[in-house]
Amino acid sequence: MRILIVEDEAAISRILERGLRAHGHQIVIADTGEDGLVLAEDETLDLVILDIALPGLNGHQVLERIRSSRPRLPVLMLTARDDIKNKVDALNAGADDYLTKPFAFEELLARIRAVTRRLDQPESSQIVAGNVRLDLLAQRAWRDDTLIELSRREFALLEYFMRHPHQVLSRPQILSAVWEYDFDPESNVVDVYVLYLRNKVDSPGQPSLIQTVRGAGYRFEPPPD
Ligand code: CA
Repeated sequence: MRILIVEDEAAISRILERGLRAHGHQIVIADTGEDGLVLAEDETLDLVILDIALPGLNGHQVLERIRSSRPRLPVLMLTARDDIKNKVDALNAGADDYLTKPFAFEELLARIRAVTRRLDQPESSQIVAGNVRLDLLAQRAWRDDTLIELSRREFALLEYFMRHPHQVLSRPQILSAVWEYDFDPESNVVDVYVLYLRNKVDSPGQPSLIQTVRGAGYRFEPPPD
C-alpha cells in the first residue's frame, strides 16, 4: 500500500517509515498539516496516518479537509495517551480509527489491516434486512429508498448487525468483529457508534432497529418487510 504519514516528530515518522517499508509499503512523509493536506489531495494513497498534535494546521483540521475532498480515504489518527476528548473528536470527525502513542508496531499493523481490509475484498452482494439494504460493493446503505450517509465504521457496524439479525451481540463480540483488535474494555466506542447508527437508520416514532439488551449488548431487529 501507499501510505502518507503526517507527523512533525521526525523520530516517530522515521520509525514508522522504516517499519512500514519493511512490510512492503510505500511511504510518503509530511511534517506539517499543510504539506500533509496537499499530498493527501494530490497523491494516490491507500491510507493516511495523521498525528493530531501538529504545528499550524492540526490533525483535526487536516482530517476535516481530507474528508471533504476524499471521503473514502482511510485515515488512522495518532493521539497522545489518555486524551479521550481528542479520540472522540477524531472519530466524530470521520477518522477510521485512532492509535494512542506510544504504541507497539504490531498494533499499528493490525489497525492498518482493519481500516483497509475492505479495499482488498470487493464483494458484489447486497444484504437486505426488513427495509434496510446494504450494497457491499458500493458501500452504500438505504432505508426504504432513502440513501443513508454512513462513515466507513458505521457501515461496518451496520453490516455486522445485519449479518446477525435477532441475535444478542455483546460489546466485546462487536469490538472484535468490527474493530478487529482488542479495544480497551472500558471503551464506550460501541455505544457511541450505536447511537450514531440509530440516529441515521431509525425512523422517527418507530422502535429502534438496534435494541439495547440490558447487561448483554445489542440486538438488531429489522422491521417486517
Ligand atoms: Ca506531533
